[in-house]
Amino acid sequence: MSSLRATLLGTGTSTGVPVIGCTCAVCSSHDPRDRRLRCSAYIVAETVEGPVHLLIDTGPDFRQQALTYGIERVDGVLYTHHHFDHIVGVDDLRPYCFDPQTEIPCFANAETAGSLLRTHGYIFEDGTYPGIVKLSLHEIDGPFSVGSRYGHAGAVSVTPIPARHGAMDVLGFRIGRFAYLTDVNAVPDDSLGLLEDLEVLILDGLREKPHETHFTFAEATAVAQGVGAKEAYFIHMTHTTPHAETDAALPEGIHLAYDGLTLYVEDDIEKYVEGK
Ligand SMILES: [Zn+2]
Ligand SMILES: [Zn+2]
Ligand SMILES: [Zn+2]
Repeated sequence: MSSLRATLLGTGTSTGVPVIGCTCAVCSSHDPRDRRLRCSAYIVAETVEGPVHLLIDTGPDFRQQALTYGIERVDGVLYTHHHFDHIVGVDDLRPYCFDPQTEIPCFANAETAGSLLRTHGYIFEDGTYPGIVKLSLHEIDGPFSVGSRYGHAGAVSVTPIPARHGAMDVLGFRIGRFAYLTDVNAVPDDSLGLLEDLEVLILDGLREKPHETHFTFAEATAVAQGVGAKEAYFIHMTHTTPHAETDAALPEGIHLAYDGLTLYVEDDIEKYVEGK
């Protein structure tokens, strides 16, 4: 039984691809893999009690992504960091509070939680406006678990992976033998130790040219091969990257992701939850 299913809802950089007003070869490509919404992922982890549904980030394309991929349930949201392209769709979580009317727990590091409180205080602090999305904010600095909001006792253990995005502290997340790190240009040694024995690693790979706050394909390849990930998929690509030829040139086990790519990870989530 596949115990974890991850769908990449968006794999593009902060502008999305095509870029507004651009007529370059990638922006005018007819290959659907060259159309990239802003980065987000939806994970369904099967426990013996039932499925737990996790969302990583809620960017500006979240509503469109939820409709496209038929996302009916959300048990918790894992925030990587507070840049616009990862948080601004937060209000579109509102329909997930119609039934059940329970809060959706949101998990973030101190920097991201502080920013969410400043920019979305009407949700997280005040909470009195009628019809508001019901969220609870949880500042995390170590492994945590997310339970179901839909009437069963299943829960999934999540390990945050601290990393750097220029001057910013960001989080990647590991669930079983799947890990997701977007918007990173450095992964400290302690965090590399948390990325061993992965079936699937989703990793920031912005473009070929160096960037101050994102990995290039070569840098991301070095990290993926260094931790020995069985398969790695790059995300957050710009419009300088044509999918077909770039993907074909990557080493074995390293791939360019694309919107809608769904990955199945055979794993024993229960064993992981119990910390065995
Ligand atoms: Zn981003
Ligand atoms: Zn372009
Ligand atoms: Zn960012």
